[in-house]
Amino acid sequence: MDFIHNDQLLILIQIQEKDVSIAEIVEKQKNLPEIIKSLRASLDKSQQDLAEATRVYDDAIKERKTFESTLKDTEARITKLKEKIPEIKTNKEYHALLKEITTIEQEKSDLEEKILILLEKLDELKVKRTEKEQVVKEDEKSFMKEKEIVEKDYNQLNEMLKDLESHKSGIVMQMDSKLLAEYNRLMTAKKGLAVVSVQGEHCLGCHMRIPPQVFSEIKKNEKIIYCLNCKRILYWQPQNVVS
Ligand SMILES: [Zn+2]
Repeated sequence: MDFIHNDQLLILIQIQEKDVSIAEIVEKQKNLPEIIKSLRASLDKSQQDLAEATRVYDDAIKERKTFESTLKDTEARITKLKEKIPEIKTNKEYHALLKEITTIEQEKSDLEEKILILLEKLDELKVKRTEKEQVVKEDEKSFMKEKEIVEKDYNQLNEMLKDLESHKSGIVMQMDSKLLAEYNRLMTAKKGLAVVSVQGEHCLGCHMRIPPQVFSEIKKNEKIIYCLNCKRILYWQPQNVVS
């Protein structure tokens, strides 16, 4: 920046560089909690899926227990009826009892069929639940990993902020207080850009053409000159020179 021949202007440009970087970092930090939130939402979803799969599986287990207990009752009823056979006196009673046994045996066979179907369903539900468990484990792992990265980023940005602030306070001390107040006012009013360069006789802040006399003054980079239109502080940057 040896084309700037005014100390205060040079310091202003440097302060603004710091302020622009500070604003960028603050903006980046703002987005980080959102990233964690969306990662958390994805984990929440897979945990809900697992809870649902577990609930369906547990319900099926309860249903199996109910069927098995009914099956036991049915078997007990059949045994009891069969025990009555030797006590039967008439043919009619005998046929009636056989008919009753056959009906309950049919019930028993239906139950056994239902239990078989349910056992197959249970196998499938168990596989599904295991799959969901796996997804949760993976999501937890990637959530923790991503969270760690984001937190590391956040801390790194904090370190950068501290560095920038300390460099800035070092140069702010060399600043004329009135000009610094003007700069701060402009920074707020002009949305983060108080000092702008002039290129092709145009203010890069508002793109207005600068009168030739003013432009030749700006080119010297010796004084604090304000844009007549947007009131920003102007300096001239030779082409192909990176500040
Ligand atoms: Zn302007």
